[in-house]
Amino acid sequence: MGKKYSLDTLQKFLDKYKCFEELGFNEFHINVYYLEWQGNKGNIIFNDFLWSLFNKAIDLNGDYFSSTGDEYGFYFNNYLIYSNMARFRSEEGANKKVINKFIKLAQDASYQRDVCNLNENLEYQVVIISGGCCGYCDSLNNTKYDLDYYNRKPRLDVTKCTRETGCNCCTSIIVKRDKNGRIMRK
Ligand SMILES: [Zn+2]
Repeated sequence: MGKKYSLDTLQKFLDKYKCFEELGFNEFHINVYYLEWQGNKGNIIFNDFLWSLFNKAIDLNGDYFSSTGDEYGFYFNNYLIYSNMARFRSEEGANKKVINKFIKLAQDASYQRDVCNLNENLEYQVVIISGGCCGYCDSLNNTKYDLDYYNRKPRLDVTKCTRETGCNCCTSIIVKRDKNGRIMRK
């Protein structure tokens, strides 16, 4: 049985899931949402309400992107939200398949965030960094792929990760260097 929150432990939840604070949610907003939620649902499971806050955060982040066009900020926030969602599901005792669904969304958002600010004159590579999850992930640790190649076929497949609490890996984008260590330009 996983962790259950209540209105009394809301602050504990907010301290743990930083995406809400980062996105400017305060206790007032949350109380308003809670009243709305209570109005719409007869039987209230508080964790379901908390889950609805994550979905609210995704919607608000979409609005943020529509009004600002800030692609980097959009993916940055989505990474934060999805990784917090994965953590919440894990805390609730979900299985790795469910957790990895959100980890995959978080990994994709982090990748999209990283490609936002690249210099178009330089060559880049993607490097996979294993979180020490399992044999599959460790076998990919530190492997590098050219960006175009990786875009066509991402190599990190979280569905193959066997870690019970979800995949812990990430990718990072690095400037491609030649065999003498010099930065490669296009
Ligand atoms: Zn992994």
